[in-house]
Amino acid sequence: KSSEDDPLLSQLKEYFGHNQFKSKLQERAVREIVKRKGDVFVSMPTGSGKSLCFQLPAVLHSDKVALVFSPLLALMKDQIDHLSKLNIVANSINSKMSSTERKAVIQDLRCMRPLTRLLYITPEQASTDSFQSLLEELHRKKKVSYIVVDEAHCVSQWGHDFRPDFLKLGRLRQAYLDIPWIALTATASKTVAKDIEKQLSLKKPVATFKTPCFRRNLFYDVVFQDNLRDPYSHLSEFIKDTLKLGQGEKKASEKDAGIVYCRTREMTEFIARTLTSKGIPAAAYHAGLSDRDRVRVQEDWMKGIYPVISATVSFGMGVDKGSVRLVAHWGVPQSIAGYYQESGRAGRDGKMSRCRIYYSKQERNSVDFLLRKEVSHAKTESKKEQAKATYKSFERIINYCQEAKCRHSVFADYFGDDPPACKTLKVCDVCHDKNSVEKMIEEFISNLGS
Ligand code: ADP
Ligand code: MG
Ligand code: ZN
Repeated sequence: KSSEDDPLLSQLKEYFGHNQFKSKLQERAVREIVKRKGDVFVSMPTGSGKSLCFQLPAVLHSDKVALVFSPLLALMKDQIDHLSKLNIVANSINSKMSSTERKAVIQDLRCMRPLTRLLYITPEQASTDSFQSLLEELHRKKKVSYIVVDEAHCVSQWGHDFRPDFLKLGRLRQAYLDIPWIALTATASKTVAKDIEKQLSLKKPVATFKTPCFRRNLFYDVVFQDNLRDPYSHLSEFIKDTLKLGQGEKKASEKDAGIVYCRTREMTEFIARTLTSKGIPAAAYHAGLSDRDRVRVQEDWMKGIYPVISATVSFGMGVDKGSVRLVAHWGVPQSIAGYYQESGRAGRDGKMSRCRIYYSKQERNSVDFLLRKEVSHAKTESKKEQAKATYKSFERIINYCQEAKCRHSVFADYFGDDPPACKTLKVCDVCHDKNSVEKMIEEFISNLGS
């Protein structure tokens, strides 16, 4: 469809300068939200354009203002600056403002026709008397288009960034039943999603727009170190094979790269030395390096000076390299969620890439030992609960390794998605050849006793 026969597309262009929606999902979310027919939950990865899902509808309801809750002043400022450049009036009420600034913002909101389309607020402001009375007045005059909760996982203790102030928002939801609420997060976990709906008292049915977790260009498998004569040679052959080292004339920075995740600093160093001695230039990355060395190692890897980095899980946040062709885990990852995220750094460019766990009995037992110790040594009840939950997550990833179940469908179950099309695409070892995976597991189990 061209923008001529679709008003929404021409408005997208007119107000935000975009020629098209970033994805089908973004488009569907905007079309639903614009209707103001009920509560909406949006779960899409960072960078997929969640803000537009509420900003465009907010602009289109030009007689109203959207209230946007966001956890951090810096995040609010980024969005407000961006909107200002587009000539969209966005303001904020926060603790850092002078009373004059605050008065000006409130004065506009109280006008017959306010210019403000989006008002950004931190959740702790929500419980102040002045905000309560402002909201009451706006609501009475039917001037609220939406209440938006950005980074909504902050409301959940199961998320990674819990903010107690967000819990105050649930009460607001109950006080204003006829305003549509929009909750957005990059967290994909089913548990967190359910908790967000509960804590914010979202009104059912909640229209949900979630990016499916299935990555069809990632081939997942598990290899048992204990079944191999020489696991390190196996790893280096795997890397050489996948990265096609020494072939092709690409620019160094676009050459195929790999990450080997290890549990300990010592292991990252050992793997880096071993791979280098086998002809694969590799560098180690862990929290024990100085800041400068960490930055240098990461940059050299980004530039392609080292095709392979062996790292602890501290590596990878904010790393944006498209041509990661393989992510190997040496030993057992911490959890399904962690493994999904770490292995998901492969194949960002959409090309076929490989994700492999080199599972081992010894690694499993060391982690098992450490986690049990944490449970028994926990000093408070809540610490104990936390340690138990960590242990449970670990058990799930053990099952992932020791069961012949489609790897992608384990992720789909975990994130609450429909079963993925792996059976037909055959992008995991189990769907590719279930028999040999079963054999491998049998061999591993029968070796356990010895
Ligand atoms: P998220 O909140 O999901 O992490 P943002 O809302 O910050 O993502 O958007 C990420 C980037 O995508 C921003 O630079 C934004 O301008 C851009 N963007 C959003 N929608 C579109 C679109 N339809 N076309 C092009 N760029 C877009
Ligand atoms: Mg965002
Ligand atoms: Zn599969």
